[in-house]
Amino acid sequence: MDCLFCKIASGDIPARKFYEDDQVIAFHDIGPQAPVHFLVIPKRHIPTLTDLTEADKALVGHIAYTAQRLAMEQGCDQGFRLVMNCNEQGGQTVFHIHMHVLGQRQMHWPPG
Ligand code: 5GP
Ligand code: ZN
Repeated sequence: MDCLFCKIASGDIPARKFYEDDQVIAFHDIGPQAPVHFLVIPKRHIPTLTDLTEADKALVGHIAYTAQRLAMEQGCDQGFRLVMNCNEQGGQTVFHIHMHVLGQRQMHWPPG
């Protein structure tokens, strides 16, 4: 399958991967928007959030749980932001679901 994040998950394309378990991996974003900016992705290819099924509810919980745990390990104890962009108008550019974790700077609201 021609998917960038599947290739990162399989190791075919290099990335600064720093966490892996049976369901997810985490790696640093290539274009960081904050001092801490990494992505948590499922190993399984799911194009966008609207492709999730009932059976994926635990996986999404695991992604969020892992994201916060890794954020704390990266020193984001003052706070951090989790973002999942969905489809074109939501700003999604890579069509394999991923949770952004941004931290170590002040976040603002609303996002652009
Ligand atoms: P999206 O816009 O889909 O929510 O987020 C995609 C993210 O993937 C962007 O923040 C972008 O910088 C990141 N990204 C795109 N290509 C690569 C890559 O080859 N390696 C890494 N580590 N990140 C990437
Ligand atoms: Zn994929």
